Amino acid sequence: AAKQSGRNGFRFFESSMNHNVRDQLLLQNELHQAIAREEFRLHYQPKFDAVSGRMLGVEALIRWYSPTRGTVAPMAFIGLAEKNGLIVPIGAWVLNAACAQMRAWLDLGYVDWKVAVNLSPVQFRHPLLVDMVRDTLARHGVPATCLTLEITETTAMDDAEASLRQLEALADMGVSLSIDDFGTGYSSLAYLKRLPAKELKIDRSFVADLAPHTDDAAIVGAIIALARALGLTVVAEGVETQAQREFLAHLGCDALQGFHLGKPMPANELGGATNTPADHYQI
Ligand code: C2E
Ligand code: MG
Ligand code: MG
Ligand code: MG
Repeated sequence: AAKQSGRNGFRFFESSMNHNVRDQLLLQNELHQAIAREEFRLHYQPKFDAVSGRMLGVEALIRWYSPTRGTVAPMAFIGLAEKNGLIVPIGAWVLNAACAQMRAWLDLGYVDWKVAVNLSPVQFRHPLLVDMVRDTLARHGVPATCLTLEITETTAMDDAEASLRQLEALADMGVSLSIDDFGTGYSSLAYLKRLPAKELKIDRSFVADLAPHTDDAAIVGAIIALARALGLTVVAEGVETQAQREFLAHLGCDALQGFHLGKPMPANELGGATNTPADHYQI
């Protein structure tokens, strides 16, 4: 009986593995087509000043509208696109689309807004990244000061010297750098000190159960103190309740982002539409 179940177990493993490989290949083919057929769209989630409630700008988040799969979340395809290199053309598409939209917002008078774009570690290691960013900004006539690039801690920590050179070139250009999902990676504080970053985003895992006198309150307080000491602006992500909003402002967080304040949405629901709800600009 043991032998029998072992064999079944092996067969089950083998067939599920084949399924996985086949699924990944299928997904990979469809991703290739998605680029050619322009099936991607960007949604934009607002960032707000924690004290005044004024809208500071947006973060661009990719969405894939697949004719066969429906709407696919980034978590379901970014990882594969990083493995097979498709993240490079996809990332270039994202930056181009975000800059085109930023240009439209500038023309509508939203001159104080910034657009933030997430950068994958793979793009970050690409030697032409700096040129790609410069060319894309120039193509749309968007000042570098309107662009923020969000990078994860682990991204920045890989190949420290080469990463620093790329970051410094981008910062010299006037692009703002933001450390995303802070607190979940493995950064050395000494290295963080050398990064030409302007902003630090507290990962939403520390915000989810945030309340006075909790470990998370101590962690968030410490991150804010660290950011202050390094001259960085602090953004909290994943703000889902009014209580979290008020407590984060009380702790001294500079900016807030989250479903309670504004969900990711298509650009036409955010700015430039005649039916734009005023509360998208002020919380
Ligand atoms: P991220 O950059 O940390 O983005 C925040 C994610 O949290 C987004 O998920 C957003 O929809 C979600 N979020 C925002 N507010 C709340 C909230 O209050 N509660 C909860 N539970 N979630 C909230 P999304 O759009 O699914 O993106 C997931 C991740 O995929 C992003 O994390 C980012 O790492 C990556 N990603 C998204 N777009 C791109 C892109 O264009 N390029 C690259 N390289 N990565 C991207
Ligand atoms: Mg981000
Ligand atoms: Mg984040
Ligand atoms: Mg996060």
